[in-house]
Amino acid sequence: CAEVDAVPTSSTREPVAALLPVVGADTTVPLVDGTQRTYANLDYAASAPALEAVAARVTEVLPLYASVHRGAGYLSQVSTALYESARQTIARFVDARPDDVAIVTRNTTDSLNLLAGVVPDGGRVLVLDIEHHANLLPWVEQSGRGATTILPIASTVAGTLDALRDELARQPYALLTLTGASNVTGEGLPVEEVVALAHAVGTRVAVDGAQLVPHRGFSLARTGADYVAFSGHKTYAPFGAGALVGRRDWLDTGTPHLAGGGAVRDVRADRTVWQPAPARHEAGSPNVLGAIALAEACDRLAALPAGTLAAHEDALRTRLLDGLATIDGVEVARIWPDSADPVGVLTFTVPGHDPGLVAAYLSAEHGIGVRDGRFCAHPLLAHLGASGGAIRASVGVGTTSEAVDRLVVALRQYLAHGP
Ligand code: PLP
Repeated sequence: CAEVDAVPTSSTREPVAALLPVVGADTTVPLVDGTQRTYANLDYAASAPALEAVAARVTEVLPLYASVHRGAGYLSQVSTALYESARQTIARFVDARPDDVAIVTRNTTDSLNLLAGVVPDGGRVLVLDIEHHANLLPWVEQSGRGATTILPIASTVAGTLDALRDELARQPYALLTLTGASNVTGEGLPVEEVVALAHAVGTRVAVDGAQLVPHRGFSLARTGADYVAFSGHKTYAPFGAGALVGRRDWLDTGTPHLAGGGAVRDVRADRTVWQPAPARHEAGSPNVLGAIALAEACDRLAALPAGTLAAHEDALRTRLLDGLATIDGVEVARIWPDSADPVGVLTFTVPGHDPGLVAAYLSAEHGIGVRDGRFCAHPLLAHLGASGGAIRASVGVGTTSEAVDRLVVALRQYLAHGP
């Protein structure tokens, strides 16, 4: 196809990618015609590639790897110091207040399940109906359906803030938990405004930062949010480590996330005395390397000149939106037309075409990686009229404009000629 050939195939490093190179940026993948093509990774919202600096740090600390907290040996002491320093870095990255605590978890899902387990007995929880299942199911399944209200969103940000204000006034809530940026559209509510509404009636706020934190950073101190959860594998570190950071009191006294060694002070046949947080929730041997890798990613992202990453991702998002707007038959999903500063995640449908087939075509014919389906957000997809699924493209530090252009050209070709 002439159009496809007109797009450069070698990836040119753009400013952010040069500042923060990711591993595997030049990976080539096999196409259905037997040729190879540089992988166009447009699936950062699912998992982002690790930074080269993170890979180097893991290699550096691997020889020092030993059991933490319990060993008397030199390497155990070094590993413990590295692990605890990683915890501080992670807390600093989200601008934690001095009395906040950072718990190293497996990922955002784990963090939110942990939080659901420490909400004081009888505390009601408020969630919106657009949440990723990770910020929906822990509240309805673990806190109890009776204790959780799932509030339908309004068609605008302003209307949704009004709906939240009304619901918060209707009955007392211990916690309001909301996404910082939707994993489907990249949109979110203004966190500071939500916190002001909730705190005015004594309700705490948790932010599911899985998509927001890696792309915009986050400040507990500035927003006033009480908790934030995020995942290492979306924040340019490998799989397996995430974090929950926030107010200490519930975490110090709530149900331990896991029962086992390290989380206890004293165990007798007739009683267990638990540690306060963070140890209380980190039973078993922790993910030392994962925490160190995540901390390295946090440090590298924090060192970027302010606004660089957001500007890079905004430019790519706009480029993709503009490109998609030129194609008849592609519909981009929005939650709120008035939402400000969405992150680099876009979901679209090609009405009359199965999203799975389109995504498979993009991969097999063009070496483009997108995600299709309902993105673990079934109620939101239903709200968007896309219960049959959709296609999501998402960007990050290593994404080039060439990758975005390739997607637009490939979709145009798909619609012109079919798979
Ligand atoms: N919340 C949001 C907004 C997400 O996008 C995701 C993952 O896609 C999660 C929570 C769950 O993250 P994890 O799978 O890392 O636990």
